[in-house]
Amino acid sequence: MPALNLLSSRPIDPSVDHEIQAIVAGDAAGSTCSPDLAATPWTFDHAPGYGPGASMGDVIPTGSPLQGDLPAAYREAPEHELHARIAAAKATLGDRVVILGHFYQRDEVVRHADYVGDSFQLAKAAQALPAAEAIVFCGVHFMAETADLLSTPEQAVILPNLAAGCSMADMADIDQVEECWEQLEELYGPLDVADENGLVPVVPVTYMNSSAAIKGFVGRNGGIVCTSSNARTVLEWAFARGRRVLFFPDQHLGRNTAKAMGVPLERMPMWNPHRPLGGATAAELGDARVILWHGFCSVHRRFTTDQIERARAEHPGVRVIVHPECPMPVVDAADEAGSTDVIRRAIEEATEPTTFAIGTEINLVQRLAAQHPQHRIFCLDPVVCPCSTMYRIHPGYLAWVLEELVAGRVVNRITVPSDVADPARVALDRMLACVPQAPARRG
Ligand code: SF4
Repeated sequence: MPALNLLSSRPIDPSVDHEIQAIVAGDAAGSTCSPDLAATPWTFDHAPGYGPGASMGDVIPTGSPLQGDLPAAYREAPEHELHARIAAAKATLGDRVVILGHFYQRDEVVRHADYVGDSFQLAKAAQALPAAEAIVFCGVHFMAETADLLSTPEQAVILPNLAAGCSMADMADIDQVEECWEQLEELYGPLDVADENGLVPVVPVTYMNSSAAIKGFVGRNGGIVCTSSNARTVLEWAFARGRRVLFFPDQHLGRNTAKAMGVPLERMPMWNPHRPLGGATAAELGDARVILWHGFCSVHRRFTTDQIERARAEHPGVRVIVHPECPMPVVDAADEAGSTDVIRRAIEEATEPTTFAIGTEINLVQRLAAQHPQHRIFCLDPVVCPCSTMYRIHPGYLAWVLEELVAGRVVNRITVPSDVADPARVALDRMLACVPQAPARRG
């Protein structure tokens, strides 16, 4: 199993923080990022929003968890002290704790992670670590829920900042999905009855970036979870069982994947949960192969074909790789599209010095650039704007949850109730049969 090799101690230049300071100072013309990026993380935790960054403008559901005040000892500690305290707590806890870090997490947090990967890889890592009493998940809420689903009941999954949600996941609310399902049943007839070919009218498929409640819905209704690594395999699984697929929450991953499989665009109507029949006609839904939920990632939505044209004009021979959460025209204009792990491996496997323009979250792009100085690697979006939800995890929160563990207290535990967890595991188990690569422990 190859190591993910993303934990370089080499300083990143220019760093995300450097570029953020440029934005705050007004040097980054055209930025739509908030000057609040300069604020301390605990400042914007009190406000009803996701914090500064690309997804800060998205609506968050009422009742979403807010992080309470951190003690002053964490809020006021200088960064070097926080790092020392995190390292000391980790040393004290030893194998009792494991820290998982998502690719999009800031470097100051990733440097402490035992495993770094995408959401699927980290879910697998959580499943493979039954000895750890606590799994500290430096990612967002749905990822911690998934880790709870896949870990043992004795293990505590901890999200260092409860306000680290995901705006895309929030775009498919369980009540909206249930309502959609009822409308589809009225249209198609009983959804659990197969036709003469053994196919049910519709199979629900949810992207990993969804709540446990949505995964539970999918599990109860004959469906499956997918990731950006295995979306095509999962859709093949679903088409072997149903005449059509209801895909949520990310319309772009659904559209890009189905299009690559030969599904015509006119057979992919959109479902807007705020409109009757999702805003589609009965005829469109009758003819549909993939019904796309009206969701998106605010980070990946920022990438445009103009940025690709500019990259090609300014860097002849540039290799453009984008994430499949980007809009379809961007994916079509790129040289390649793939999950974060596909992007990482493409760069690692390039034998000649190459210029890469990458369409994904800036923390990962900057880290790859620092680790591969033989290549020129830059973000397609010239104005940095990180995922605001990931950005909410700060070393101060990590130090806090670890020192609480040392003191024998579990804070910020994420627990999925069993009535949701059981069917959600069914959907995840189906997905885990569609296996991409799992991460290896850092040497
Ligand atoms: S990058 Fe997009 S999908 Fe990923 S956590 Fe951030 S908002 Fe959610």
